[in-house]
Amino acid sequence: MSERIVTMLSQEAIAARVKELGAEITAAYRDKNLTLVVVLKGSFVFAADLARAIDLPLRIDFLGVRSYGEGTETSGVVQITQDLSKPIANEDVLIVEDIVDTGLTIAHLMDLFRTRNPHSVKVCSLLHKPARARVSVQVDYLGFTIEDKFVVGYGLDFGERYRNLPFIGVVERA
Ligand code: 5GP
Repeated sequence: MSERIVTMLSQEAIAARVKELGAEITAAYRDKNLTLVVVLKGSFVFAADLARAIDLPLRIDFLGVRSYGEGTETSGVVQITQDLSKPIANEDVLIVEDIVDTGLTIAHLMDLFRTRNPHSVKVCSLLHKPARARVSVQVDYLGFTIEDKFVVGYGLDFGERYRNLPFIGVVERA
């Protein structure tokens, strides 16, 4: 069975939106201690572009999280596979996510980080699929709201493939 990828968000559309988000975040965090917490693996491409669109001396740290198996359905269990390298006490933490789907991952991370006494914790996600929400989470900086389709590319995978696509697309089985 072959697969083809149908473009949902072009490279150009993503780049333009990331630039806008970067400007918004720059203005909001001008006098703060911004730490971007990049949720691996899916957010690595978005975070690399977003970080360079933010004109501030920010810090970056990485958190490994597993919530999906090889397929496309959430297990509902959020497992930390790699913790942050530094404490976040007194930092203004901005969690960088690729996509908020059921909301379970973000809800779990917000709870976890609040126990570590940061100055603030907010969320920036490239994509949001509100149709699938199981818990309500606030996305403070959002790239795009999308319909309920499983997307790949720009860091997002399907069975670990397609992360390197420069655009966001939907997998179609031919
Ligand atoms: P949530 O906990 O909000 O259900 O899911 C968050 C994680 O599930 C995302 O960070 C991402 O890794 C994965 N995920 C959710 N929807 C999609 C999707 O459409 N495509 C891909 N590739 N991963 C998704």
